[in-house]
Amino acid sequence: MIITMKQGSKPKDIAVVAEKIKGLGYKPHISKGKDVTIIGMIGDYAEKYKDAFESMEVVEHVSEIQKPYKLASRDFKKENTIVKVSRNVEIGGKKIHVIAGPCAIETKEQMVTTAKIVKDAGATIIRGGAYKPRSSPYAFQGLGEKGLKYLNESGSKLHMPTISEAMTVEQVEIVAKYCDIVQIGARNIQNYDLLKAAGKQTKPVLLKRGMAITIKELLLSAEYVLSQGNYSVILCERGIRTFETATRFTMDLNAVPVIKKLSHLPVVLDPSHGIGIREHVGTMAKACIAVGADGLIIEVHPQPELALSDGHQSLLPDQFKALMKDLDLVAKAVGRELLD
Ligand code: PEP
Ligand code: MN
Repeated sequence: MIITMKQGSKPKDIAVVAEKIKGLGYKPHISKGKDVTIIGMIGDYAEKYKDAFESMEVVEHVSEIQKPYKLASRDFKKENTIVKVSRNVEIGGKKIHVIAGPCAIETKEQMVTTAKIVKDAGATIIRGGAYKPRSSPYAFQGLGEKGLKYLNESGSKLHMPTISEAMTVEQVEIVAKYCDIVQIGARNIQNYDLLKAAGKQTKPVLLKRGMAITIKELLLSAEYVLSQGNYSVILCERGIRTFETATRFTMDLNAVPVIKKLSHLPVVLDPSHGIGIREHVGTMAKACIAVGADGLIIEVHPQPELALSDGHQSLLPDQFKALMKDLDLVAKAVGRELLD
């Protein structure tokens, strides 16, 4: 249920409504828009209190949200959400942020070198996996906390925010300690305890769509994080599994306009995992921007032939540099900004 406050309502009016919600055993979700404040009251049987709130002098009106996801839906919040990361980086505004770096953090030197390369080319967020969800138990599993320290050092040195994946509830706290964004990967997107843990901490969370989940299920996963009080959620399309085997996954570009209609949350696209073929990553990255991405994830490695994970889809430094200039042109053509 959404409670829309009267225009110009004061903090004390909002507090009165929030207290009433708490008194009934629900959690108030407050969203302050440009002109009006809306308060979400979500939970079983919340609708039975509709009249009790509608009759309050400070309330404009009360409406029900029909969708199964509530806080993630456009019905709850009309304006696009802009997620504030750190170091003045905001995802969801005019600027498109490119998140770049290696698939996995391998050594301190590899992390620091790659971070410098992607920053010089115009990336604004550094990525690197320390806890790696590998299909094979015999493949490189990541450096764990030691890797996160290398990523954190790179971010501090270059004044850039960082992102890395957490695969377990325990890892959420560790990743949040060293990084500015906590990533939940495609394979764990329906691990509901993990989503709740990500929602209980305060760093922004990037949710990668699972390879076999629907847009509705992705939005319900986002709802898990939002429902815990963490409203800094970024959605990520990274390709889904279809009958096609010529590419690693099938990039669902349809998802972008559809999600943007259904939800106010920013959408980042990952063409590296989406197509999984180095030669075509650039072409798909341009398409991602044209279709409305708020950010991109691109894997880059100084020596992809030696990479311990996803070398086949990682761009060489010069390829990344050239691509960023092309992406800037596409961004401008669709009324966005990319390079400073
Ligand atoms: C990644 O970004 O490193 C990754 C493992 O991606 P996904 O969860 O989309 O497979
Ligand atoms: Mn990867």
